[in-house]
Amino acid sequence: MSTAMTGDLAVGRQIQLGYERVVAVAPCDVTIPAGKLTAIIGPNGSGKSTLLHAIGGLITPQAGQLTVAGGPASAARHRISYVMQSVSFPEGVPLSVREVVRMGRYPSAGWFGRFRATDKRRVDEVMERLNVTALAKRHLEELSGGQRQRVYVAQGLAQDHDVLLLDEPLTGLDIVSARIIDDIIHDETDAGRTVVHTTHDLDEARAADHVVLMSGRVVAYGPPERVLTEANLREAYNLGELHEPGNIFLDSPHEEC
Ligand code: ADP
Ligand code: MG
Repeated sequence: MSTAMTGDLAVGRQIQLGYERVVAVAPCDVTIPAGKLTAIIGPNGSGKSTLLHAIGGLITPQAGQLTVAGGPASAARHRISYVMQSVSFPEGVPLSVREVVRMGRYPSAGWFGRFRATDKRRVDEVMERLNVTALAKRHLEELSGGQRQRVYVAQGLAQDHDVLLLDEPLTGLDIVSARIIDDIIHDETDAGRTVVHTTHDLDEARAADHVVLMSGRVVAYGPPERVLTEANLREAYNLGELHEPGNIFLDSPHEEC
């Protein structure tokens, strides 16, 4: 495994992000530090997932310059484990929990490669950490939303990585699952890895080392106390003067865009 990153995970200069003719994120600058916990926060449709896609090398900027680990995002992909917001598996293929977690080892073990003792140990270990060992033989569709999310995070951790990207890992979860995943986020950061997650929750954003506030572009980025000001939140959430200070409501975490 490569050495831990120092400096910045990602630096964007006037990056514009989108899909074919859709512009999701208008030209803006952003920096995401390495070795720290970053929260990306903003309303539905504000471009949080799109920014993660760009960092994960799934899309390339339409304009501007984005460097990830000092080079193009595509070159850093092998260092990045990306747990997406909605992972869909082909219907009619009844994958067990253990099989899904094992898939996290495929990039290292090879799709048709032989699973070594170290691969098996890694799978066992992450299943323990996410408390899904007892569910090993169950099929994914038999699980609750929180259990399924824990399986996806286990798959992400099973992969060799020094960067973990999580798209709304805590949204809509039961308290037990949320607690387990929140602990993982902090353990990963404590272990020196870079963690970037998206969230709807102001408290989760406040608990991060670094925050990116979005609204169709990056409104602000930096330490939480500098970014999560009332003025910035009003701007990002389009709140008028009618709202009382200290009474800012973020959109419902259960609402899908
Ligand atoms: P968020 O994660 O903050 O809810 P997204 O990054 O998913 O926001 O979406 C930002 C914008 O990009 C939205 O207007 C959304 O409709 C659009 N968008 C997202 N994915 C696609 C796609 N695959 N094709 C076209 N437009 C998309
Ligand atoms: Mg999203």
